[in-house]
Amino acid sequence: MDSTQQKLLAIVETWQPNELPEYRGFRCGNCQKNINEAWHHLVDTAGYKLQVHLCKTCENLFRSQTNSNLSKTEFKAFTCDACSKTLDIDKVDKQRKGYHVWLKTNGILAEQHFHKSCFVNNNL
Ligand SMILES: [Zn+2]
Ligand SMILES: [Zn+2]
Ligand SMILES: [Zn+2]
Repeated sequence: MDSTQQKLLAIVETWQPNELPEYRGFRCGNCQKNINEAWHHLVDTAGYKLQVHLCKTCENLFRSQTNSNLSKTEFKAFTCDACSKTLDIDKVDKQRKGYHVWLKTNGILAEQHFHKSCFVNNNL
């Protein structure tokens, strides 16, 4: 496993995935700060396939600790895994929200995010 995946995996292993789908905002995967957009890093190893979301501060820290090629990572708003469009910002608390859904397929734990309507329509 390369050192970048190893560092990301260490972050993922601190999480406690909720088995039930939850509609809520997003937090930085490392410092847990509320964020509406993030650096996206794919973890695809050790039984996981999901995105780790990092805030700008944690991204800088992460980059200073790794010398891998990060050309595939991008800074963007959170999107829906059903329709690929950006998730909506809640007008009340100004947080971008979506359903957070954990699924295990063939032993691989994945996390997906959905609009409220996409979640309901797809019967997920
Ligand atoms: Zn952070
Ligand atoms: Zn959608
Ligand atoms: Zn999530």
